[in-house]
Amino acid sequence: PELAAVVAGGTVDVLDFPKPGIVFKDLMPLFGDGPAFKRAVDGIIAHQSPFDVVAGVEARGFLIAAAIGYATGAGVVPVRKAGKLPRPAFSASYALEYGEATLEVHKDAFVAGQRVLVVDDVLATGGTAGAAIDLVEQAGGIVSGFSVLMELGFLDGRERLGKRPVHALLTV
Ligand code: 5GP
Repeated sequence: PELAAVVAGGTVDVLDFPKPGIVFKDLMPLFGDGPAFKRAVDGIIAHQSPFDVVAGVEARGFLIAAAIGYATGAGVVPVRKAGKLPRPAFSASYALEYGEATLEVHKDAFVAGQRVLVVDDVLATGGTAGAAIDLVEQAGGIVSGFSVLMELGFLDGRERLGKRPVHALLTV
């Protein structure tokens, strides 16, 4: 099947998670299916312009970033939720539907000018991706692209990410 169909086939819609009225796209079946996960990871790699390091957004982005890093020989950098990193870090906060979230990256995570592919599982409103990209740039990285398995197109997250190349294996 097409890559988009592989992602769709590994996704379960969960009603009212994490709160009433939200339909959560659960991609754990895709991660759990070896051949499907490999195709998805290879699909992201095949689409990307050259990069030196992969930055994954906590927590599902870590899984994708590690697989891409191993497959390509690139290093992996975690973009973490607030308070988890042991050494000095840059922070970026962004609005959630209710409240605020903060992401952090170590100040010395990148060598200046390193090309960084940023990955996560799902692009929704783009708040998370925007903060992750800002952090990579603050830390001296050049964002070569932002890739996800699935984009929720109706939330227009892509619009918040400016001119940086955004790629999704599946847009719904
Ligand atoms: P955003 O900041 O774009 O609104 O939300 C994207 C972030 O929240 C990503 O880190 C993603 O993992 C998570 N997220 C939001 N909605 C969903 C969803 O329906 N399914 C999954 N798997 N993650 C989601």
